[in-house]
Amino acid sequence: MVDGGVRVRFAPSPTGYLHIGGVRTALYSWLWARQNGGAFVLRIEDTDQERSTEQSVNVVLESMRWLGLGWDEGPDVGGPHGPYRQSERGEVYRDHAERLIASGHAYRCYATKEDIAAARAAYDAQGHKGGFRFESPWRDPATAPAPPSADAPSVVRFRAPVEGSTAWDDLVRGRIEVRNDTLQDAILLRSDGLPLYNFGCVVDDLTMGVTLVARGDDHIINTPPQILLYEALGAPPPTFAHMPMVLAPNGEKLSKRHAAVGVLEYRDLGYLPDALLNYLARLGWSHGDQEIFTRDELVAKFDWRHVGATAGKYDLKKLEYVQAEHLRALPPGALAAHVVPFLAKLGLEVSADDPRLLAASAHVKLRCATLVELADGLRYFFEPPRYEDKPRRKFLTPASGPVLRGLGAVVRDARVFEPEALEAAVKAWSEAEGLKLRDVAQPARVALTGRAASPGLFDVMAILGRDETLVRIETGAAMAEAAPPTD
Ligand code: GLU
Repeated sequence: MVDGGVRVRFAPSPTGYLHIGGVRTALYSWLWARQNGGAFVLRIEDTDQERSTEQSVNVVLESMRWLGLGWDEGPDVGGPHGPYRQSERGEVYRDHAERLIASGHAYRCYATKEDIAAARAAYDAQGHKGGFRFESPWRDPATAPAPPSADAPSVVRFRAPVEGSTAWDDLVRGRIEVRNDTLQDAILLRSDGLPLYNFGCVVDDLTMGVTLVARGDDHIINTPPQILLYEALGAPPPTFAHMPMVLAPNGEKLSKRHAAVGVLEYRDLGYLPDALLNYLARLGWSHGDQEIFTRDELVAKFDWRHVGATAGKYDLKKLEYVQAEHLRALPPGALAAHVVPFLAKLGLEVSADDPRLLAASAHVKLRCATLVELADGLRYFFEPPRYEDKPRRKFLTPASGPVLRGLGAVVRDARVFEPEALEAAVKAWSEAEGLKLRDVAQPARVALTGRAASPGLFDVMAILGRDETLVRIETGAAMAEAAPPTD
């Protein structure tokens, strides 16, 4: 059923959030599909009925949508090889199991749990330490007993070869070869008809025409039995690319204890999808010494040859750096559209085309990394300043009262209300008054923003406009005059 071109898939198990390690796998597959004009398939592996939830399926879809990793075929959009949820593909698995039984590559096994436990106990009693392989009496058709009863439950087992070896050239790990006598007669279908992972995965990848399977290297152990299943089904296996885990900075497997790991947490923390993807792309792949990539550049430049086999360490500082670069590179309109929902979370209803928003974010973005920080840095443009205690006590002192009143007069009379003109006017006035600009600027900054740090004072004034600037200078002056004397 292979269609010709590149067909890749992302096959998450919906048992929680979408882990950023998984996203990197999805990203590489997606980049490969887009670069080659191929198809990206989203398949939900939900046969673990106890752990899979509908809510997690929705989280997966929402996470992928937020990241902009669109799929050409999948559970919601359908496609020619559906359904795209394993729980809906029972018939396909049963058909393939029947084919394998008919060709002698699989058999029905009626052994009960108790039979297997007894075989294991006998094996252990012989002094073996591990390495138990269950040898089903139904493996050899010549000696297989009759089924215990007409309706006895059975599983379908693979008749695994015991000789030879299975090998593949992994795109990331190079050649891997495993002796077949290490493999079990693995269960393909359970007695309730549900497939085990290896079988479901192979049947799906085969019937969906997948040409390249990228996944975490924890699945390397599953690849030999999967390749044997392809052979048994008379089909060439896809190419495999097994990617190293994403590790925490201390070398442990990355988990919640080290950093946010769910994709949607990054959305809520105010990261840009393109920045997160850029960071994840570089975590395990390189293109010379380039660090910052647009999405289109990643599509154009991604290659498997430069995917490293050693585990990348998750580095929040670097993620922040990449995010800040992407934030700065956004055109004003796009930046405004991204930050509007974060302003709304602060109770500020601001339109994405508000000129103050467009102007202010161009300045504030230089001082922050995430959209949460950007929204926070913008809030005093859209609501009265919340005067922070420390800068207020330090700068709004009785001595700065007259300074602010004088500044107010200059601002009121300024002919051109633009940063350069304001700066020139304020400088001329402070020189004439024998004041240092710093002694004017800090009280003014606190009066206008409530904070000790902000974009350039005259930029802030110009964005606020004359009336609002005057109101705030007046408020600041009154606060200064009412402050207790300093010594
Ligand atoms: N559902 C499996 C997982 O989430 C997919 C493995 C694969 O890509 O083959 O680990």
